[in-house]
Formats: sequence, structure tokens, C-alpha cells
Amino acid sequence: MSEPRPDIQTNVDSPGATDSNRSCIIGIDLGTTNSLVAVADDHGPRILNDAGGHAIVPSVVRFPEGSAGEPIIGREARAHLVEFPAETVYSVKRLMGKSVTDVTGDLEYLGYQVVQGEHDTARVRIGDRIISPQEVSALILQKLREVAENALGHQVREAVITVPAYFDDAQRQATRDAGRIAGLEVKRIVNEPTAAALAYGLGHGSKQETIAVYDLGGGTFDISILQIIPHEAAEDSTDDSAQLDSFFQVVSTSGDTHLGGDDVDRMIVELVEREIREEFGMELTFPPSTRQALRQFSEATKIRLSEFDQAEIQVDLGEERVYQRVLLRDEFEGMIRSWVDRSLACCTRALRDAGMKPDQIDRVVMVGGSTRIPLVRQMLGTYFDAEPYTALDPDKVVALGAAVQGSILAGSHTNALLLDVIPLSLGIETMGGAVAKLVMRNSMVPCQAKEMFSTSVDGQTSIKIHILQGEREMVADCRSLGEFHLRGIPPMPAGIPKLEVTFHIDANGILNVSAVEMRSGKRAAIQIVPNHGLARDEVDQMELESYKFAREDMKLHRVVDLRVNAALDIKWISERMGKLGNAIDDDYRAALQQHLDTLTDFIEQSEDDPQSVDADAFLKAKQSLDEASVRLHEISIAQSLRDERATSAQDSTDESG
Ligand code: ADP
Ligand code: MG
Repeated sequence: MSEPRPDIQTNVDSPGATDSNRSCIIGIDLGTTNSLVAVADDHGPRILNDAGGHAIVPSVVRFPEGSAGEPIIGREARAHLVEFPAETVYSVKRLMGKSVTDVTGDLEYLGYQVVQGEHDTARVRIGDRIISPQEVSALILQKLREVAENALGHQVREAVITVPAYFDDAQRQATRDAGRIAGLEVKRIVNEPTAAALAYGLGHGSKQETIAVYDLGGGTFDISILQIIPHEAAEDSTDDSAQLDSFFQVVSTSGDTHLGGDDVDRMIVELVEREIREEFGMELTFPPSTRQALRQFSEATKIRLSEFDQAEIQVDLGEERVYQRVLLRDEFEGMIRSWVDRSLACCTRALRDAGMKPDQIDRVVMVGGSTRIPLVRQMLGTYFDAEPYTALDPDKVVALGAAVQGSILAGSHTNALLLDVIPLSLGIETMGGAVAKLVMRNSMVPCQAKEMFSTSVDGQTSIKIHILQGEREMVADCRSLGEFHLRGIPPMPAGIPKLEVTFHIDANGILNVSAVEMRSGKRAAIQIVPNHGLARDEVDQMELESYKFAREDMKLHRVVDLRVNAALDIKWISERMGKLGNAIDDDYRAALQQHLDTLTDFIEQSEDDPQSVDADAFLKAKQSLDEASVRLHEISIAQSLRDERATSAQDSTDESG
């Protein structure tokens, strides 16, 4: 085998492995709508941001009037797309390696001019300039290369670039050429769905799996059915390119080259325009700047509805005319349901070509910004009867996978944690910053763990679930993996809500955490790749520290638990004492107060310096209060019985009167 296998740690100690200049191969997702660049180093794959913190570079290039002007690439070009339709090139990926005849169907969607170049190839015409699609793509690649060089602080020469699985040789060659023009040596062209699978670390298990990669982007939809062949079976291939292809076989692809998030933006624009006409009775022809604003703002509305239940729309039409309305998630979902159905029809076609039924698909991987729409996830989950993989950001997963492939080619693939066991324990944050572990390290995957929790504050309607990884006892010493909120719980006294938290880790090491409040049925969930960005030496380090601090940690956890429980006791007892008033004699009241004061001192000390607290003495003080308060419980029960009798007596007098 000429190249290291993805799951074997290599090169860590060999000289030159730290020479990142030499071994760094970046991964690029050159998308129709958006492009990104990523790198995989010791900490696993990560997206590289520009100086402004933006990861996404819109695949848009503007060639300002008068061909001497420097091209404007990315964000800024996109912001003025509607204003400069004739000089702004977008969706150029559609033209790559194509003839004009091939793309006649696309032309109505493109605002710029497409002409015939030599050998019948499609070219872009801006003013009197004729530009090849490769040149336009090269400008985007150059921009990404700059982003990478600035983020990494050194030169970058080599890259892996992704293309759709259905790209033919001419389209792949055009993509290579674009890389060359941008001064990049293209080490490999990788299929986008394969990259997505690589990012999730799929394909190094020992069993054969069939996965569906559902990619809903800005203007295009692709569904690919991949067969993952276990390494043992693919072992005989020597050339590493054949190797990757034999691990990930594309069984079938389908899609729609004009189905994507842009359609949804357009639906919202049309809704707004129609209602403006109805309300103000105008024949509307908006100037380009207004149309641009309307478009951007429709996209923002759509994105807001992926997270919230409603979004406000407001358009100032001048002359004191303001169009205003709220778009509810439900109504929005009604608008886009048939649009999602169109993508499912493609899934059916791809499955039919593969000779399969939806239930034969083992995993569904989500790719593309539009898969953030909850209805898309929900309908796809129902269609395949499986929880789709969403743990990695769907619009970054392809670039991340390209970077993984780059690091394999560079021989610097160190993010290689075998996933048959959980390398570090997994748990959630509990009161006082302690960690309750649900899955212990070295558990075999797949596995599942459940635990019940409750609230510690009266009337809490939202609970934060914070997921942590590590062997230490306190949140501050563990690795935070993510968090989510379980909202809409009806107000109840502390301790009454019944919260069931489930950790499920599947065979690929993907963690699903769900929380259900059993009394109200409210549910929320999150998906995480626990080992993403975790290197072997970090695991060793965290394990080492857990031994080193074991004693202190255990004590700290114990003191924190005592503090939380003691505070709850004090709260309850003080409230009772206040309520019962004269029903408690002075001596007993004084005795209780004494216990409360002692315990309060312990709590304060444990807040200032928990390690200095004598945990045994703290526990004793708490137990003494527990014992002393038994009488208080009795008095309290007797009192409430008396109260009840008094009310029912009152009720019967009311009735007879
Ligand atoms: P492509 O692969 O076509 O280059 P992307 O995968 O980046 O494109 O997807 C871009 C699309 O995703 C756009 O239509 C954008 O509006 C949409 N999108 C991005 N984020 C969200 C979100 N949170 N909710 C809904 N749509 C989103
Ligand atoms: Mg894409």
C-alpha cells in the first residue's frame, strides 16, 4: 500500500512532519453558490476564515466597467449582484467544461452574457472581454488561497478540490485547469459526497455501509448513493487514488440542476410583491437596488425561520406606505413543502437506479446550506426513516472532507482516533459546574445511556444541556462539545420536572443527545462528532491529568454536590419556618437557626475555596440539619391537614347557606 490508511497514525515523529509549509495540502469546496477552504492538521480538519472572520466566499466575481478595473471577488461582488447584472458572474460552475449548446437551459437563469468560444466552449462576455469559466473559477480559487495563506501564515501551493459526483471528465479537467491558473497544484479532484463522508470519518469501519448524501445548496440539488467498502475488502489496490474510490463507490446519483435555496428566496420575494400589490394597488417596478434589498432580505427571513418560529417582514415603500407582516414557520413550511417533495422525487430515482429501497440506506448525510431548514431535515428523516447526520455544519462539511483527503495525501493525517471505543468519557453539566458522566471512556460503540435529571430553581421553563468530554469532574477542566436548550417547559417547582437525557453513540462514533421533559413531553436534541478536532496526544494528556487530579477532583465534585443540596435544604426549611410562624416554639426555632447558620458557613466557604472545605464535616452538618428538621416536616404536615379541614368546613357552610 503506497499511502497511509486513513485510520493509521503516521509521521508524527518523523523529521519534517512539522514542516507545515511542505506538507500542507488545503481542501477546497468550489461551490456553485459558495466556496470554502479548510485544512486538516494535528487538531483535525478546520475551516479557514478570512480576516473579517468569514468562512464563506460567495462564488461571485464582478468585472467592473472598463476592463482595466480589478475584478471584485466574493462577498462584495455578491452584495451588488442585482445592480450590476451584466458585469457580475455567478454560478460559473454551471459552465465549467461545457459547450454553449449544453447550457442553453441555464441561460435564462444567468444575468450575464454567455457566448461561444473556441471548440464550441461556453465563455462569458463582459463588455468586450471574453473570459473562460476556468478563469473566473481561478479568481475564486486565488481568493481562497489568499484566505488560507493569511490564516496559516505561510505559502500554500497544493490543494484538493471537490466536484459533484456526476461531473464528467471535461468538467473535472476544467476544474483542474482553474486550479493551475490560480497557481495551485491540484493533487486530487474528489467527489463532494465522498468528501462529506470523509469529514464524518465514515469508511474506516469494518462493515459495509450504504449511505445517501443529500446535498441541497443554493441553486442545485444532488443526491448520491455511496457504498462504503471495508478496508480489508479494498486492500489489494495499490494506487491511492484507486484506493479512495474503492472505499467509496458511487452507486448512483440523481438531482436537479435548478432546485435550491434560491427558489425559496424567490418564493418569499413573490409573496411580498403580490401582497404589496394587493394592499397598495400599485403596478410595481422596483429599481434594481430595491430588488437587491428585497432579495437579500428574503434570504435573511428564510434563514431566520430555520431557527425561530416566526420572522417579521417590513418594507418601506415611501410616502408613508409601509408593508408589514409576520411570516410564521407553519405558513412558510406550507409554501416550501412541494419544493422539498421535488428533491425527494430525485431520491426515489437515485434509489431506483441503485436497485434499493429507502430502508436499505444505513446513513443519511446532510450537505448544503439549505439542509438547515428544519422541514427539510424532518421530511428527509421520515423518507429514509433515519436521523440524518447534521453534526457537522452542512455548508462546511465538503471543505472539511477535502482537507481530510489533503492530509491523507500529505501523509500528515494524525486525527486518527479509532472509533471502536469512546476515547474520553461523555457527560453533561449539572448544578454548580460539576459534570455528570453518562458514557464512560473505553465503552464500546455503538452504545446508549440514559439518566434522569431535574431542575433546581422554581418555575424554570428552559433547561440548558451542556455536553462535555473528559475525565475530570468539573466543567472547567473538560472539553465543551456543544449545548442546546430545552424550552417551553411549563413552570413547576424545583425538583418536579422529570428530565430524561439520552446519549446514543452510533457505530461511526456520532453522538446524538436528546432531552425529554417527561411531564410535558417537550423534547430537544443535538448531534455531535465527539472526536472532531481531537488528536491522540490530547486524549493521552486528558487521561493523564485525570489521574493526577483524581483525588482533588473527587473532593471538589463532592463539595459542589453538597453545596447544591444543602442550599436546596436551607431554602425549603427557611420557607417553612416563615410560613409556620407561631406553630413553631422559640427553642426549636433557635435550634434550627443554629444548624442553618453552620451549614450556610460551609456553603460560603465552599464558594470561596472549595478545596479548603472539610467535606466530612460539611456532610455531618447537613445530616444534623436533616435530622433536626424532621420535626419541622411533622409540624408542617399537621398544619396543612388543619388548613384543609378548615377550608372544607368553610365550603360546607357556604353550600348550606
Ligand atoms: P452551494 O453548494 O450551492 O454552493 P451552499 O451549500 O453554500 O451552496 O448553500 C447555499 C444556500 O443555503 C443558500 O440558498 C442559502 O440561502 C442557504 N442557507 C444558508 N444558511 C441557511 C439557513 N440557516 N437556513 C436556510 N437556508 C440557508
Ligand atoms: Mg455545495
